[in-house]
Amino acid sequence: MAKQRLVILGGGESGVGTALLGKAKGFEVFVSDKGKIKEKYKQVLIHNEIEWEEETHTESKILNADLVMKSPGIPDKAPLVKQIRKKGIQVVSEIEFAARYTNAIIVGITGSNGKTTTASLAHHIIKQELEVGLAGNIGDSFAKQVLENDYPNYVLEISSFQLDDIIDFKPHIAVITNITPDHLDRYNYEFDNYIASKFRIALNQTKEDYLIYDADDPVILDWLEKHPVQSTLLPFSLVKKIENGAYLENEKIIITIDNTQIDMSAKDLALEGKHNIKNAMAASTVAQLLRIRKQTIRESLENFHGVEHRLESVLKINKVQYINDSKATNVNATYYALESMDAPTVWIVGGQDKGNNYKELYPFVNEKVKAIICLGVDNEKLLENFGSMVDVIVETQFMNEAVKIAYKIAEAGDNVLLSPACASFDLFENYEDRGRQFKTAVRNL
Ligand code: ADP
Repeated sequence: MAKQRLVILGGGESGVGTALLGKAKGFEVFVSDKGKIKEKYKQVLIHNEIEWEEETHTESKILNADLVMKSPGIPDKAPLVKQIRKKGIQVVSEIEFAARYTNAIIVGITGSNGKTTTASLAHHIIKQELEVGLAGNIGDSFAKQVLENDYPNYVLEISSFQLDDIIDFKPHIAVITNITPDHLDRYNYEFDNYIASKFRIALNQTKEDYLIYDADDPVILDWLEKHPVQSTLLPFSLVKKIENGAYLENEKIIITIDNTQIDMSAKDLALEGKHNIKNAMAASTVAQLLRIRKQTIRESLENFHGVEHRLESVLKINKVQYINDSKATNVNATYYALESMDAPTVWIVGGQDKGNNYKELYPFVNEKVKAIICLGVDNEKLLENFGSMVDVIVETQFMNEAVKIAYKIAEAGDNVLLSPACASFDLFENYEDRGRQFKTAVRNL
């Protein structure tokens, strides 16, 4: 029988991982990338004798596919993708493809903010007692792990783009951390389309599966009311008592599942900020479902110090704390950063605007921010919103300069916070580059 032809659009981490798994499973594989493929991935493709092309999409080699794996960066409105669908060829994401080849228990974590933190924390707790892989948008691709070292359990960080192209994929435990407007350019500027996409994480779940979600999030609650799911629901809340799920009482996190209750002190969390209590609730609920011991969960929460670029403490200089929150690429993430500031703050903000609405930040800026340093090519919206709110507001296009200005303004006891609320692509390669430049500049002070 002729081999099935698997065409992979995009030669990045998920594309190359899928190519390797596809080849091992007997597909004839072709990788096509409209941009340049990174050298390290090219070497892998060459070494494994997988056919590939870059800087072009050869339609004749693509439209004869039996199955197409589309990398998350490629939008549905790309003409080639439309053609593929029109021909009736099945299009899947890497998550869908790789999940077909593992029997592992899968924890799938999605949401607008907090995915990486919650996934990393859940993984950190679970790995104390079980063999577990961490994949999705983090580290080595899921497909590669399934091929090379299939774990009995996975924690997957899953973006809405990955969920758009699932068919049968079903996590046994799903988490939706929160839903606020993001990436709307990929969803016809319809918030509902984006919400629907996030909820696809529960699409194939039955009542044996669990959906953990933020019960303080009006968007999630409203959607669930209008679009009920089959999953067993385990909400978490900071403000109301939850019978089945997690809540906060007298600074204690209390989690109840099937009449079994565990509790832990929220004060002992190594991570700071209210949003991290939520992330901890979600991750601990996952761990409890997997029967990780209470004591292990407690200890793991105490010694997990977070992920780079997410409210990361960099250095204290002259009693001024420098904090790198470069991953705050939308207003909601910055909201939680400012909320967690416990001292007067010099705020470095700006970059590529995503249709930001800054109003929800006004109270925090009034209360906590003493100076604003706008770090973007176009800072007009920031000046308009905050110009009259603070005594000092300056503009720069250089990280070094931004940090030096902050150093001059900040006094003992203050914080200097990089939390841009914007994408980084106007001045930096990506948010990691922006965060690293910040840390280097701070270390050079
Ligand atoms: P994601 O992977 O969803 O982008 P991260 O864990 O990388 O999320 O965090 C992204 C940004 O959002 C960081 O600035 C972080 O401080 C902030 N953040 C983390 N958890 C939450 C949450 N539960 N709600 C809102 N913001 C959060």
